[in-house]
Amino acid sequence: SKTQTLLQVEKLKVAYGGIQAVKGVSFEVREGELVSLIGANGAGKTTTLKAVTGLQSIADGDVKYLGRSIRGQGPWELAKQGLVMVPEGRGTFTRMTIVENLQMGAYTRNDKDGIAADMERVFAFFPRLLERRDQLAGTMSGGEQQMLAMGRALMARPKVLLLDEPSMGLSPIMVDKIFEVVNEIHSQGVTVLLVEQNASRALQLANRGYVMESGLVSMTGSGQDLLTDPKVRAAYLGE
Ligand code: ATP
Repeated sequence: SKTQTLLQVEKLKVAYGGIQAVKGVSFEVREGELVSLIGANGAGKTTTLKAVTGLQSIADGDVKYLGRSIRGQGPWELAKQGLVMVPEGRGTFTRMTIVENLQMGAYTRNDKDGIAADMERVFAFFPRLLERRDQLAGTMSGGEQQMLAMGRALMARPKVLLLDEPSMGLSPIMVDKIFEVVNEIHSQGVTVLLVEQNASRALQLANRGYVMESGLVSMTGSGQDLLTDPKVRAAYLGE
């Protein structure tokens, strides 16, 4: 059977006032894939993710989720349908405990047993969160907050998990841990769209990747092909 396209971005344009940050970007994410979006600072990756999740309005083009345009829908509406983003800078509720943050992730659900099972699953991914379950989120380290943000997103039972720079600002050990869990989440069947400046790690995990440059897609291919491409190596892998 043919794999379903979950997310289809078509000639997307996004502007901030008069400035075009995204100038006609097209890509797709199929069921079960891990797709990485890489590119330099300011290339428009975050803006693209925001438009896909309803946080930023679309100037032109379209975003289709499960075959239907999502234009005009907000982030909560989309999260309820399985399109769930972990924002850059994490966005945890700092005055709530870890458990309360995780419960917030499940706010659209009322299947008590499913929620409890998913909380166990999050604690299995991140034992640190279990150890600190009653600690306030605002008192945790950057890496722990990233774990919590990912855990909270998983509590919404995403069909597509969108991760914006999950490794940013983290220690090397924490970066390893985060990418290990992204890989594990993907192997458990969650479709993932990963935005990263750490091109090497993002492409190692990816089935396919897209390179963004000045608001446009400049290259696409399998993760492996992009990793070995001389232009990608020179521009994004420091060679
Ligand atoms: P980064 O990794 O730094 O987040 P990026 O590839 O995600 O880079 P964007 O954050 O999407 O890039 O930024 C794309 C362009 O849009 C940049 O030139 C940026 O300065 C601009 N931009 C982003 N957010 C805003 C905003 N709220 N208002 C005005 N301009 C913005």
